Amino acid sequence: MAKLGRELSAKGIDVINLSFGEPDFFTPEFVKEAAKKAVDENYSYYTPVSGYLDLRKAVADKLLRENGLTYNFDQIVVSTGAKQSLANAVMCLVDPGDEVIVPTPYWVSYSEMIKLGEGESVFINATVENNFKITGAELEAAITPKTKLFMFSSPCNPTGSVYSKEELADLVAVFEKHPNIYIISDEIYEHINFVGKHASIAEFDAIKDRVILINGFSKSYAMTGWRVGYMAANKEIANACDKLQGQITSGTSSIAQRAALEAYKGGLDTVNEMVAEFKKRRDIVHELLSAIPGVNVNLPDGAFYFFPEIKAYFGKTDGTTVINTAEDLSLYLLNEAHVSTVTGEAFGNEDCIRISYAASEEQLRKAVSRIADALAKLS
Ligand code: PLP
Repeated sequence: MAKLGRELSAKGIDVINLSFGEPDFFTPEFVKEAAKKAVDENYSYYTPVSGYLDLRKAVADKLLRENGLTYNFDQIVVSTGAKQSLANAVMCLVDPGDEVIVPTPYWVSYSEMIKLGEGESVFINATVENNFKITGAELEAAITPKTKLFMFSSPCNPTGSVYSKEELADLVAVFEKHPNIYIISDEIYEHINFVGKHASIAEFDAIKDRVILINGFSKSYAMTGWRVGYMAANKEIANACDKLQGQITSGTSSIAQRAALEAYKGGLDTVNEMVAEFKKRRDIVHELLSAIPGVNVNLPDGAFYFFPEIKAYFGKTDGTTVINTAEDLSLYLLNEAHVSTVTGEAFGNEDCIRISYAASEEQLRKAVSRIADALAKLS
């Protein structure tokens, strides 16, 4: 979709891109300054595989300060983005034939990482009616003797759903009955949360040792290109991931790590400003999308995405194109409305599309108005 969007743009067409998975904000100045200083101070050598010691300690401090979670620095492995932390964990934990439970919609790479680990994905379908969240009973029903791992994100990409502490407790009650299952908790959107304090499943002492908490700097500090993420896990898993990473990428960029350290030392002011802006946009886009007939949309509590169900348009046509799938609709919106979205199939859901609101208010208003006009042409 992004490629097609670029082709249209190259022809001079004004394409509005709502397919982005990254904040449209700049990295905070104080973080950029730290990177410049690191260059001048010759941070140009290989870094320790698990990251600089002071950064790992700063991550442990952050987890205690913001999340009330106690980790020693040797339980933290800094990686080339949260994505590498996720892949490390999957590769270290999943053996051929192991089952990994993933609530859908899920972030695209989960199922592919599980394939690389020669595991089997077991999906639990969550729908817009339940705000794209699963219950303990659904989790219990998906567990088999082969279940090794459960993998989810909260706040979620692509739905923006946020699990409350109570909802997590419902899942934890099930995990307590199944002590062999590990949990990957992807919290990369932690700060982009409009409903108050982030709840981590690692807060539950009974299962904390089995939780691999994933987080990073990409979203909260608008640092997607800097490539710094991390995991916090029990020492055995952290050591295994350190070993794996040591033979694949080694430690991530020295300059980016010095900048990330400053981000965690610098407090949350810039993060909070960005989140306030995202919340404003969320409310605007929600109102606009809700007014479009056939678009079934919930109010996401976090991240910067909507995941509207658009299956009401299946079987409809504008006279030339028949819409049979979410991909058809996404393509139609690109060609007719010149708005780029992402088809739900990419996230394991065939009835929805993902709309990112990492764009200016003006662009968002224009884009949703164009979407409404294009959909009105279908009958
Ligand atoms: N997890 C989720 C749910 C994401 O949406 C993304 C990026 O889009 C990542 C992880 C990867 O983050 P990073 O840029 O730190 O690798």
